[in-house]
Amino acid sequence: MASYAKPRFWAGLAIVCAAALACSGLGRAEEQAPAVIGSFPVASAARLAGDTQLTRFVLDLDKPIQFRAFALPDPDRVVIDIPEVNFRLPTGTGANGRGLIKAFRYGLVMPGASRIVMDLAGPARIANSSMLQGANGQPPRLVLELEQVDRATFMQAVSPDAHPENHQAANAVADAGPTVAVPETVPATKPATSDSRPVVVIDPGHGGVDNGTQSGDEAEKSLVLAFALTLRNRLEQDGKYRVVMTRADDTFIPLNDRVKIARSQSAALFVSIHADALPKHEGDAQGATIYTVSDKATDAEAAQLAETENRADAIGGVDLSDEPTDVADILIDLAQRETRTFSNRFARLLMNEMKTVTRMHKHPLKSAGFRVLKAPDVPSVLVELGYVSNKGDLAHLVSESWRERTAAAMAEAIDAFLAKREANAAPAD
Ligand code: ZN
Repeated sequence: MASYAKPRFWAGLAIVCAAALACSGLGRAEEQAPAVIGSFPVASAARLAGDTQLTRFVLDLDKPIQFRAFALPDPDRVVIDIPEVNFRLPTGTGANGRGLIKAFRYGLVMPGASRIVMDLAGPARIANSSMLQGANGQPPRLVLELEQVDRATFMQAVSPDAHPENHQAANAVADAGPTVAVPETVPATKPATSDSRPVVVIDPGHGGVDNGTQSGDEAEKSLVLAFALTLRNRLEQDGKYRVVMTRADDTFIPLNDRVKIARSQSAALFVSIHADALPKHEGDAQGATIYTVSDKATDAEAAQLAETENRADAIGGVDLSDEPTDVADILIDLAQRETRTFSNRFARLLMNEMKTVTRMHKHPLKSAGFRVLKAPDVPSVLVELGYVSNKGDLAHLVSESWRERTAAAMAEAIDAFLAKREANAAPAD
């Protein structure tokens, strides 16, 4: 791994990882390119039938779609990954369960990919799954049948080896019986695209039930979203990159899912946007700080901040035991070391650009154990734009012209970083 060109191994790894996607972050991300809005399949109704032995889920569509279904434990769920679908379901759909399904949620997980998540009332396996063509006045339907099983059987079915992404294992499962549907399709979490531009993932911190830090009426989640959208628009204007937002509205996204979005998109860069606050008794602090990941925090304040930011999942009710451990640690370690070098390089470029347009913290480059920066193969930084507890910083954060200026400086740094990366990337082996 002398060059930064990703070996095939890492591409495979990203796909395996996508199988373990935790799904509690589903929201109402309604961001769609207006030009293509009409071309997405439309889901018009969803219903449940059956009992605790056998429960059937039916989704009515206006055209057949490809899908991929699999189960996840702790909490027990069944997930259906589908291409981007325009959900026009009546309000309250999925709130009430039936049989083996306690409730279900649905939504866009990223451009090009939607997902349905069912919370299970008990261990179940996917006994049948099919896409029925429309006939006899019935619309095309996605049908999934869940069958009650004991916990041991359930756990066996959800072991990493049984994930449909692992082709051999998936075939083995298919041979043993109609357990898991393995449609011939690109995994939905990585939308098929002919767009070869580098992907920049912008990650506005917090969202939904998690406000982040707060000063008077100003919640961190809203301030950082406003900034992130400015940065997105800026980058899209230039057109050099494909920009993916981990959230583009007030939605809660678990930390792990943010990392997974970056990995599943094979992102060239991940930029998390936050704003800090200092408790009154700790005096005043001001200016922007750029963080990279490290097992050892640079100082006590950095360690404390990482701890606070990592608490987001607990606030959103995400079970931390859900962490996938699907990659050998030593391999993560190797890639991580290389990736950290790139992250540090970008952090320095970013500081040099940002300091020309805004004030920086007296120690502007720091590191600590931020969970959101832990993708082993995506250079990642977390920017604390300033302190909402500081009057001057807060005035910046709510100012549109400051946002424009600072986003432009960030775009410069992203250009410098990715221009060099592209130039250095050797052809794939
Ligand atoms: Zn934050």
